[in-house]
Amino acid sequence: EHLVVAIDGPSGSGKSSVSKAVARELGVGYLDTGAMYRALTWWCLEEGVDLDDKAAVAQAARDLPLEMGTDPAQPAVRVSGRDINDDIRTTRVSEVVSKVATNTDVRPVLQQRQRDLMSQVAEVTGGVVAEGRDITTVVAPDADVRILLTASEEARLRRRSKELHGHADDHAVEATRDQVVRRDRDDSTVSDFTEAAEGVTLVDTSDLDFEQSVQAVVDVVER
Ligand code: C5P
Repeated sequence: EHLVVAIDGPSGSGKSSVSKAVARELGVGYLDTGAMYRALTWWCLEEGVDLDDKAAVAQAARDLPLEMGTDPAQPAVRVSGRDINDDIRTTRVSEVVSKVATNTDVRPVLQQRQRDLMSQVAEVTGGVVAEGRDITTVVAPDADVRILLTASEEARLRRRSKELHGHADDHAVEATRDQVVRRDRDDSTVSDFTEAAEGVTLVDTSDLDFEQSVQAVVDVVER
């Protein structure tokens, strides 16, 4: 049988890099569901779809010519054959993606596409690690392993700061604080991640480095 690992958590918990490394270690596929909300947002901006028009954005979610690469070593994101992996991480997209992600007509469309992708990749590689905000609760509540990856606000700010500014001195951390706090608030309609749902294992990475975080998740999978 296929191994399905669902990982949720807030931004800055190290979720993406840890999930990718875990998928590589297990030799299975990887799905970044946040990238799908980002790709849809990018596409709407490109096509001039009004992000406040709920129905139009939901229709775009159905029509989106999206191809998700599921190789954890090279998780490409393509729309109409164009690699948009970098475009979807820009502030232009980051600033408005929560508007798309909180659209209640969009979520079921992408959630179903995510389930389909997860079964396809699991069929090919023997399993899948899928990460996001609602994988353990909505997309794959029957996953073999369900993990909530968290980190203290200070640890998350430090990591985000390193990503954005290349370092985490006091000034850079403060500059990052606003952004992370706002993102958390904008995202809170999805989940506040203050506690793990029933059957979900909490992994707190605040005091773990990258390798230790990967090992902590692998330990949960293997036990
Ligand atoms: O994780 P990432 O920052 O790429 O997520 C982009 C956006 O999509 C965030 O606003 C996040 O809350 C949202 N998201 C979501 N459901 C998921 C994954 C991401 O609402 N399963």
